Amino acid sequence: MTYQSLSPFDGKLNETFDEITDAVLEAKLATAQICFETWRHESYDERAVIIGKAADRLHDQADAFARIITLEMGKRIGEARAEVEFSARILRYYATNAERFLAPLKLAPDVGEAHMESSPIGIIFCVEPWNFPFYQLARIAGPHLMAGNVLVVKHAAIVPQCAIAFEKLLIDAGAPAGLYTNLLVSHEQSDAIIDDARVKGVALTGSVAAGQSISSRAGRDLKVSSMELGGSDAFIVLEDADLEHTVPWAIWGRMYNTGQTCCAAKRFIIVEPVADVFLAKFRAGLEALKAGDPLDAATTLGPLSSEPALAQLLGQVDEAVAGGAKVLIGGKRIDRPGSFMQPTILTDIAPDNPAFRGEFFGPVAMVFRVADEAAAIALANDSDFGLGGSVWTKDVARGQRVASRIETGMMFINNIDWSDAELPLGGIKNSGYGRELGSMGIQQFVNKKLVRNASMSAPV
Ligand code: NAP
Repeated sequence: MTYQSLSPFDGKLNETFDEITDAVLEAKLATAQICFETWRHESYDERAVIIGKAADRLHDQADAFARIITLEMGKRIGEARAEVEFSARILRYYATNAERFLAPLKLAPDVGEAHMESSPIGIIFCVEPWNFPFYQLARIAGPHLMAGNVLVVKHAAIVPQCAIAFEKLLIDAGAPAGLYTNLLVSHEQSDAIIDDARVKGVALTGSVAAGQSISSRAGRDLKVSSMELGGSDAFIVLEDADLEHTVPWAIWGRMYNTGQTCCAAKRFIIVEPVADVFLAKFRAGLEALKAGDPLDAATTLGPLSSEPALAQLLGQVDEAVAGGAKVLIGGKRIDRPGSFMQPTILTDIAPDNPAFRGEFFGPVAMVFRVADEAAAIALANDSDFGLGGSVWTKDVARGQRVASRIETGMMFINNIDWSDAELPLGGIKNSGYGRELGSMGIQQFVNKKLVRNASMSAPV
């Protein structure tokens, strides 16, 4: 029983699901391929009817979908509802804009005329994580279905009910059989799907280890892929930052989704003149959070997604301490039922500490004190990851300059409002490659075909 729906708040096992057999998998791939042959020729307007209906249903039933998320992976109910609403906006955004993004692009060659046209490529295999169990699916379904591709999707093993609910959402919205297929499959079956000749592209959001395995497998057959992987984003506070504005963002940026966000603020890099004040306020904010039932809107600290996730995080903290880090607050599980972790601040993390290059996927903040802006930039760039990051200063021009010098896929000045349907999301280095969302996200799995018409004689 690989797929288990288990509440991390009280440990209650809600339901388990068997993996599908190889024969069922084959039938689902065959249906997806048949669907593609029709779907690829549908107009954008026809596709938008289905994707738009799915968006409406997500919005109309946001409370019910949010409850599934909270019960399955422990996200606080307000955050879950916001995730569902955002997922609806993403679907709506692509239903409205896909045709514009993929319209033929006229070029100007020296001789004749030419244009680029965009056409779908076939079945795309998507492997998705549990931390945003609806948003991650909307991020692939909106653009890639509107582009004319069809999707087969392996969601994380701990969120099967979210996976099934999203598939049903599209079916209820009128999706033909095979347009969007949820697959309860093992990692071995996942490898076989990547190898299958009918599958033309692979999209993963997940850990670096999964990225290495899945991208190399896709690369063997030269299949196009996008990798949205982990991060350890720098949160750079300069001496002229408005701390009244900055500290609440620092708390939110580390603690949103109980710290289980790829582009969460994970490395707090503070210049000396404001370090003591920042740290005192940041610490007070984290210590004020109250653990409780994530279904209760008054709860400010939810559980982690699972017991193994908590065990891994506690192990990483122990390893960091063994490597010389100091625990300013927290560092332990909370003494109550459920997979709860104390908000934690680590300091004195030397470059040879394993934590320095790692990713804490939970409520653990690493705090570094540096002399000045130049030292902050150097430290921010001394990372194997390059997903996002932020800089905090009253001088926006200075913020722009610092942002330009950080080696990462996204930089935010005086905010970390990471994701918007309109804005491309993705990273460099170990954070992966490719972009999702915005006008770029929909270009990932389309054939950009050059068509040139020129009346010329063959060269002799
Ligand atoms: P994970 O273990 O890599 O799991 C993510 C997905 O990949 C799950 O569906 C998992 O399935 C699957 N998977 C893992 N290894 C696989 C393999 N060898 N073959 C086939 N499928 C495989 O990641 P996680 O630790 O749960 O999720 C958190 C990570 O995702 C963090 O590093 C986070 O930063 C990153 N993330 C990145 C973004 C972004 O946009 N850049 C967004 C969210 C999360 P099972 O559950 O069955 O193992």
